[in-house]
Amino acid sequence: MRLDDAIRRDGFRRWYERQLYEGHAYLVTGFLALIMMAIVLEVISFRDSAAGLFALVAIGAAGGALCVFAWRRFTALLARAEYVAERAVCPACRVYAKFTIERADDAPESVCGCTLAVRCRSCGHAWTIA
Ligand SMILES: [Zn+2]
Repeated sequence: MRLDDAIRRDGFRRWYERQLYEGHAYLVTGFLALIMMAIVLEVISFRDSAAGLFALVAIGAAGGALCVFAWRRFTALLARAEYVAERAVCPACRVYAKFTIERADDAPESVCGCTLAVRCRSCGHAWTIA
């Protein structure tokens, strides 16, 4: 789902909260994968057969890949959420997270993937979250 659609649907605070929950779920998943991988590597006896060695390598690779994937998702979600949250303060009245999205344009070079033209619900000031 696009960033502007998610914020319009849930509101900024709920979107931000969900990003933190989802990001930390990835962090926990990566950590559990690391622990499970270490346990399996400790338990498998790879000296007995080639199949044991293959299983060891496969589990090690899968666990490592899951850890890397989970870490990258965690950092990407957290970076985007923090980036948008730092720009969610109205420059005129300093109110946090009370804005309406007026327009959204794609901007692949931006951390959040788009630019959001927003307007403060308290004072009516307009600014861009890019
Ligand atoms: Zn304002």
